[in-house]
This record gives sequence, structure tokens and C-alpha cells, in this order.
Amino acid sequence: MIDFSFPAELQDLRGRVAAFIDETVLPAEEQLGTRRYWDLVAELQPQARAAGLWCPFIPAEWGGMGLGHLGNALVQIEVGRSFSGLGGWALNCMSPTDATMLTILEHGSADQHERFLRPLVDGRTRVCFSMTEKNVAGANATGMETTARLEGDTWVLNGEKWFSSGATTSNLAMIVAKTDPDAPRHRQYSAFLVELPAEGYRIVRDIPVLGDVGLTHVEGEIVHGHAEVRIEDLRVPAANLVGGRGDGFVLAQHRLGYGRLRHSMRSIAKAQAALDMAAKRCVERTAFGRRLGDLQGVQWQLADCARDLYLARLMVLHIAYKLENGQDIATENGIAKVFVADMLSSVVDRALQLHGSLGYSLDLPLARWFAEARGHHFIDGPDEVHRWKSGRRVIAAYERTGTTAGAAGGDLF
Ligand SMILES: Cc1cc2nc3c(=O)[nH]c(=O)nc-3n(C[C@H](O)[C@H](O)[C@H](O)COP(=O)(O)OP(=O)(O)OC[C@H]3O[C@@H](n4cnc5c(N)ncnc54)[C@H](O)[C@@H]3O)c2cc1C
Repeated sequence: MIDFSFPAELQDLRGRVAAFIDETVLPAEEQLGTRRYWDLVAELQPQARAAGLWCPFIPAEWGGMGLGHLGNALVQIEVGRSFSGLGGWALNCMSPTDATMLTILEHGSADQHERFLRPLVDGRTRVCFSMTEKNVAGANATGMETTARLEGDTWVLNGEKWFSSGATTSNLAMIVAKTDPDAPRHRQYSAFLVELPAEGYRIVRDIPVLGDVGLTHVEGEIVHGHAEVRIEDLRVPAANLVGGRGDGFVLAQHRLGYGRLRHSMRSIAKAQAALDMAAKRCVERTAFGRRLGDLQGVQWQLADCARDLYLARLMVLHIAYKLENGQDIATENGIAKVFVADMLSSVVDRALQLHGSLGYSLDLPLARWFAEARGHHFIDGPDEVHRWKSGRRVIAAYERTGTTAGAAGGDLF
């Protein structure tokens, strides 16, 4: 039986998160530009913690809320209404720190838990994730050229990374590097934890990106940087290798399920806000003697936004359901990744269009969201790669079962 209702305790939790975002985070967000971002985070975190809203995905014995995927998804849709990321930092569930905490929790040793996870969960440190490289490793991460060579009980890393989000403001980096060039392709890499700053891990610059358009923070303060990094004879103790040697890829995969729900829920929150703004505009603005919202051509646009948002919600809910039940999400994850990115781009674009020149201006957040949404088509793997894999699953399902249903949500009914 399909049951779309949420347990009462999760509904209650969602209400508590919503209230915290409305009453505490959004007023703080209004101070951005006059107050420093990280000062606001430092004020918000103790308040979130005191309210019992802390690290939603981390087990209670570690000081988190110990939520399952569904509960976490509900938290994320409320946190996602804080578009500056302050809400995410307030609850200590901001990317990439949150997903990396999970990786350390799952694959780290007891010693790594104490040295690295504990301060992360306490909000005393932040971690970045350095995998992508400018030269080859992007969509095809097996192109990584950064090497790690074992000398006694120390690994020596050399290479370069780029788009390491948050590296400039992190105290820790998880770096994936090639340790075993002769192993099978997906077993050649290992992951290391490196305390920052470190001699040999040099941040060349934060790369200016399209999504920076219209950011409001205090002049000169670094908040969301994506770093280009040079790694030269970086010495890492053997005890800082996470998981087993050659596990670098498994670790990266482990982040996927959690990351999809977090990312998608925040995209849905943003698209919902854009559609709300569009509707407000449509009832307030007139053109040719009528409200915009009374024009059929405009209503069609609103209908398309509502359709896409509805479908995105259903997809993400289904993925949460599968994760809760320990089922494989590879098929749905790939489809949803592309659909949710398309949905966000097109809803924000339509909302911007309906605001005309006002939408194009930086007086509203729509132009900024439009620029930001563009990145969603390749962050976490480009659309084409996900579509390529989804297409292969269609063929495989047909060849295996005589129908493509298994690759097209066929287990729904
Ligand atoms: C804002 C932002 C934050 C990021 N944060 C991080 C981070 O914290 N840590 C990290 O390690 N990385 C991070 N990344 C990098 C991100 O993971 C990569 O952008 C992504 O993996 C794609 O790699 P690439 O950009 O090098 O694209 P490329 O590999 O250069 O691919 C370029 C294009 O080629 C096409 N293409 C590639 N393969 C195929 C194919 N098989 N079939 C058809 N077309 C194809 C697609 O159009 C693709 O967009 C971030 C990126 C952005 C934009």
C-alpha cells in the first residue's frame, strides 16, 4: 500500500525546524552585508543546538539528531528556505562538511572519529572535499592524476585539485589521490584526511564563478569559495588514510544517497520560493489592462512550474522511501539528479521572466538563483553522464526482463 503520510513525530520535527528558520535564521539573514557571515553562524549554532536541531543525519550518540532519510529530507526542505546557507550552517548540515562527516563516520577508524569527526560534529571545524582536477578528472573521476606515495609510515601527495568548495575556510581536507596505479581502475585511489593549513596544500585562489553574482556579504569575506589547490610534497601520516587502501571510490559513492536528498530538497525549496514570487507578481502586476495572472499564456507557465515541482517532490520522496528501506537507488538517483536540476532551472527562469526587468535585476534573488542553478547541471556529475547511465539501464532492463519498466520507476506498481 502506498502511504504518503508522515509519522506525527516527523511532522512535529518539521514544524520545529520551520519555526527556527522563520524566527531565528531568516532575521539573521537580513543582516548579511552589514555583519560578517561567520559571526552570524557562530551566533546561530548554539541556538540551533539548544533547540535540539543539530546535525540531523548524525547518530544521537554522537550528538546529532539521528534521523533517517525521510526525517532528514523534511529537515532539509525547511533549511533550504535559508538561501544564503546560514540555515545549513546553523544546524551544522552544510555541504560538503555534512556528507564528509558521514564518510568519516562510516569508514573512519576509532582514532579518526576522535580526532576529526568529534570536532566536526561539535561545529568546531569544517572540512572540504578535494577530488576534481582541472586536467582530466571531472565527469570521469578516474582521471585523477594526484599521486600518493608511501614513504615509511607517511604518504607523500603531489598534484593539483580544483573546485574544492570551502577549502579556504576549512580546517580539514579530504583528498582523494592515486595510491595504486596498477590496481583495477576503480581501486587505484585512496582518501586522506589532512589538517589545514598544511605545508604542501597551497590554495592558489578561489575561482570566481557565475553563482557569485549578487552575493551579499561583507566586503572581502570569503564564504562560498571554490578553491584551486596545488599539492606539493604534502606529507600525510599513514593513520590518516580513510577506509582501506584503494577505497577512495567507495567513499565517494557513499555520499550519494544522502547528498541527493539534501541537494534535491534544497532545490525544491528554492523553486517553491521562486514560484511563490511569480504568483505574487502575477496578482500584483497588470499588463494590457489585466492582471498578469489572468492571462492564459501566463497561467500555462505557472501550471508547468507546478507540474515540475510536484514531480520533483514525488521523485525525491520515492528515493527517501527506498533509502529508508535499504533499497538500491542508483536508477532513481540518476533520473532525479537530472530532473531536479532541470526543474530548478526552468522554474527559476520562468519566475524571472514573469518579473521582467525586475527579475533580471539584482534587487531580487531570482537572477542569482538562475546563475546558481546553472551549476546544478554538472555538480555531482554532468547531466549527460547521468542520462548516459540511465539510458544504459533502459537497455539492460529490456535485455534482462523483456521490459524497460525496471529502469523507469516500474517497481512503484
Ligand atoms: C559550484 C561547484 C562546486 C563544486 N564543488 C566540488 C567539491 O567540493 N569537490 C570536488 O571534488 N569537486 C567539486 N566540483 C566539481 C564537480 O564535481 C565537477 O564539476 C563535475 O564532476 C564535472 O566535472 P568537470 O566540471 O570537470 O566537467 P568535465 O569532466 O570537463 O565535463 C565537461 C562536460 O563534458 C560533457 N561530458 C562529460 N562526460 C560526458 C559523457 N560521458 N557523455 C556526454 N557528455 C559528457 C558534459 O557536457 C560535461 O558538462 C564543484 C563544481 C562546481 C561547479
